[in-house]
Amino acid sequence: MNNKKIIVAGLGHGGISAAALLAEAGFDVTVYEKKKEGTLGYDWTDIFAPKALEFAGIPMPPEDKFEYKEDMTFFAPTCKKGLRQHVPQDQLEIKMERRDIYEHLINHALSKGVRIEYECEVLGPIMLGNRVAGIKTAKGDVYGDLVIDACGMNSPVRSNLPEYLGIEKSAGRDDKITIFRAFFNKASDVEVEAKFKVMLFAGGKKGVSWVASEEEHTDLLVGRFEDFSKEELYEFADFLRESNPRLGTEIVRGGQFVEIPVRQPLAVMVSDGYAAIGDSAFMTVPLIGSGIANALKASRMLANAVIADKNCEFTAKTLWSYQLEYYKKVGAGLAPLACGRRALLNLTPEEIDYCFESGMITESDITMGADFDNVSKLFDGDPKDLVNKIKTLCKDPELVKKLLPCAAQIGKVVTTCAMMPKKYNKDRVLAWSKVYIYSFK
Ligand SMILES: Cc1cc2nc3c(=O)[nH]c(=O)nc-3n(C[C@H](O)[C@H](O)[C@H](O)COP(=O)(O)OP(=O)(O)OC[C@H]3O[C@@H](n4cnc5c(N)ncnc54)[C@H](O)[C@@H]3O)c2cc1C
Repeated sequence: MNNKKIIVAGLGHGGISAAALLAEAGFDVTVYEKKKEGTLGYDWTDIFAPKALEFAGIPMPPEDKFEYKEDMTFFAPTCKKGLRQHVPQDQLEIKMERRDIYEHLINHALSKGVRIEYECEVLGPIMLGNRVAGIKTAKGDVYGDLVIDACGMNSPVRSNLPEYLGIEKSAGRDDKITIFRAFFNKASDVEVEAKFKVMLFAGGKKGVSWVASEEEHTDLLVGRFEDFSKEELYEFADFLRESNPRLGTEIVRGGQFVEIPVRQPLAVMVSDGYAAIGDSAFMTVPLIGSGIANALKASRMLANAVIADKNCEFTAKTLWSYQLEYYKKVGAGLAPLACGRRALLNLTPEEIDYCFESGMITESDITMGADFDNVSKLFDGDPKDLVNKIKTLCKDPELVKKLLPCAAQIGKVVTTCAMMPKKYNKDRVLAWSKVYIYSFK
């Protein structure tokens, strides 16, 4: 065994997967998780691309633990026109209970020699000079050669790092979506055409909702970019029942409010002795908040950088290849979506209707969003198609006025991502990160 000690703060999906790869490579890896063993996750299912497991060197779960996800049908606010995904078989995502995903990842990591300390709350980083040298926990200080921060969006490690490292501490209100999710009883057996309906700005409320009609229950998710109360939620669910007769009134599973980051990836993900992964590095897809596949993908990239560091220095310089690879393969494709999300929030429900009904957004656009292998190519569309979309857009001058600044901002963000320093130099990286952060303002 390599005598270098790796600390994983929080049992996030990317952290536990990186832990498995590093333990397999001979490192001494311990994960510190605040929750009790067997209590991780939520009481509902999650959807993610199974190719991410393969990428991270994790076997597929047993067949009885997952099913392939239905294609989603997206609806504009008036719900007149639905656009259905046509995801090819080899790109289908899987749906799995969150607790089974955790169990699968944890068992895999344990089989590689990872140790897990449950009920151990991480309080913050330990700094020795400019280096992250360990973590403070409720059970005492722990020192290590590298801290992998997988504590999620509100990580106490990231948010307590010293200012001079240039790592953003928190996500602003606009950078998060508040989600309510619950499985309701199935109120009727009526056949529905779109089993997995995703609705934008339904009922004129700025947000995304879904109603998925399952055999046993109806899965309701309501996401808004502002806080909302249970009373508002119940009112909204009543509104949705008018067009979704299978949505019952009794909550059978879940029923919580949670927050997910929906912003651009963290500008600087590494420093000496430190690397952020998963929600801690804001790796979710900005429009929809999926983050499992990206966290798993990132675990392989981080492990590659750590293993390639033959002198085990684990400095910002040696870990930089992790950030570079993540941005190249994933982050640079996600960052412009953060601009798209903001532009979407500026639109009126009528304008979204127009985008759907005029053909500016098509079934192939909606399908492309599910392409795990091509997330970095989301903006490399067919030029002819783009010209047609621009022509359609020009018919609505108000929409042009709203979307032009977004197009300019996307251009700025794409250029900035391409200009990320290829080699680590502290001053150049900090200067670049300021430009990157500013390009979203
Ligand atoms: C309601 C909901 C639904 C979602 N649905 C999907 C989906 O269908 N598909 C998808 O791809 N993604 C989904 N996501 C997003 C996905 O969960 C995350 O992007 C993904 O899990 C990566 O986040 P993470 O594992 O890094 O962080 P988290 O899931 O936040 O995990 C962080 C871990 O660190 C632990 N922790 C936190 N603070 C401390 C501390 N101080 N000390 C010790 N431990 C700590 C937590 O207990 C947790 O175990 C959903 C998220 C939510 C909230």
